[in-house]
Amino acid sequence: LFELKGKSVYVAGHRGMVGSALVRRLAHEDVKLVTVDRREVDLCNQAAVFDWFAKVRPQVVFLAAAKVGGIVANDTLRAEFIYDNIAIAANVIHAAHQNGAEKLMFLGSSCIYPKLAPQPLREDSVLSGPLEPTNEPYAIAKIAGIKMAEAYRSQYGCDFINVMPTNLYGPGDNYHPEMSHVVAALIRRFHEAKVAGAGSVVVWGTGTPRREFLYVDDMADACVHLMKTYSAAELINIGSGEDITIAEFARVVAEVVGYRGEISFDTSRPDGTPRKLLDVSRLTKLGWRATTSLHDGLKRAYAAYQAVAPVTAQ
Ligand code: GDP
Repeated sequence: LFELKGKSVYVAGHRGMVGSALVRRLAHEDVKLVTVDRREVDLCNQAAVFDWFAKVRPQVVFLAAAKVGGIVANDTLRAEFIYDNIAIAANVIHAAHQNGAEKLMFLGSSCIYPKLAPQPLREDSVLSGPLEPTNEPYAIAKIAGIKMAEAYRSQYGCDFINVMPTNLYGPGDNYHPEMSHVVAALIRRFHEAKVAGAGSVVVWGTGTPRREFLYVDDMADACVHLMKTYSAAELINIGSGEDITIAEFARVVAEVVGYRGEISFDTSRPDGTPRKLLDVSRLTKLGWRATTSLHDGLKRAYAAYQAVAPVTAQ
């Protein structure tokens, strides 16, 4: 068992959805939490990261910083997604090694798995086939981070581990109408339609792709559990173990938001990968499972959205 007690624990990406959930979760552990503002240390800037690590020398690192977005963001900001994510992974992983971090967790993504890999996606299917083209630059950057953590483990003996979260949602999500992920996009669209009394809401694609969703506080809890209990080169998937079609999912969001109009599908919009369900048997064997149902998680996510929604959208 790896002891977190009394250690300095750095959460990289603490303002993001996952990082802020980790900060909430770590408040229940006896640790010295360390974060640093982006204006002070830009994680894409190698010199800034190396200087900061040499000064602070955190003992434990959760690498939850990343440039992320939904299917449109991934497909249009292709250069930013590959550059920023490779730079963040390279700088933080190398600096953690150079400054003697005892343990590091790198957060990957379920999109690292090949587009047509057998479902549910097993950890060993990484690099077994071509990626989904819409998010290939992001996936390649995440695969680079995973392989770095693996390489530093094998060459230098660093206790660096890799976890692969499924599609996450919750407080602190990005609600941009074009660039967000589907959960935030639909919460906002159904909410605005309800407020405006609109009779129809458009959902992208055919509605047939299947996705698995995990509430971000469950994700943070899984990360802390694995930080304490897991130490090996193999990846670990983190998911709820259940998936749902986008059409069914849209109906659940409409119900939670209280929108009663019609739902239509814009098939000129991309579907992305047909199915993305993680095999969570490794995680389950390690003694962790998700506890927040999709319905409850969406209720909490909707409340969090209402707390931050612009006045015009109320
Ligand atoms: P993905 O899991 O990487 O494809 O990421 P997304 O969360 O962006 O999309 C998941 C699925 O939801 C895809 O099949 C999208 O076509 C579908 N979807 C439906 N409506 C929306 C929307 O308004 N925004 C986004 N981002 N996706 C949507």
